[in-house]
Amino acid sequence: MSTDNAKAVEGCVFCQIAAGRIPSIRIYEDENFIAFMDISPQTEGHFLIVPRDHYPTLTDVPDSILAKVLPLAKNLGDAAMTGLGVEGFNLLQNNGAVAGQAVDHWHMHVIPRREAGEIPFKAGAPADLTKLPFVAENIRINVPPTRA
Ligand code: 5GP
Ligand code: ZN
Repeated sequence: MSTDNAKAVEGCVFCQIAAGRIPSIRIYEDENFIAFMDISPQTEGHFLIVPRDHYPTLTDVPDSILAKVLPLAKNLGDAAMTGLGVEGFNLLQNNGAVAGQAVDHWHMHVIPRREAGEIPFKAGAPADLTKLPFVAENIRINVPPTRA
């Protein structure tokens, strides 16, 4: 790892979450990715798909990793629809501060939808931490075994 990359990892909240040094409520993990509940959700059940390795933005992510993101988003989005009883979800990702990217470690948002027009695309309210583990569990138990 280069010195620059080591510094990025040290100061990066998602690297710290991936390493288990900052707690998160995980719904999925494999050798390349973790997925965990967003701390300020846009809607109930909003979670993030995050590569374990630190890539600042989409243009930095290797194609081999990107090729795995959409199949994973499909399975986890499906688990969210089943587990939360919602009929749709948005995939969203921001590249660069000007595009609204706040955490410089590339990630994909999965945002369950219950009604049209409910996403303000501003920071969400803090999650209800008494409820979040149960919301997460409803998604987690619906992830197909081959992906768990
Ligand atoms: P961005 O604006 O970079 O696309 O989205 C960053 C997302 O990460 C936001 O939705 C924000 O709520 C979430 N987030 C930021 N810090 C933390 C954290 O420490 N834990 C969790 N679980 N989510 C975080
Ligand atoms: Zn990082």
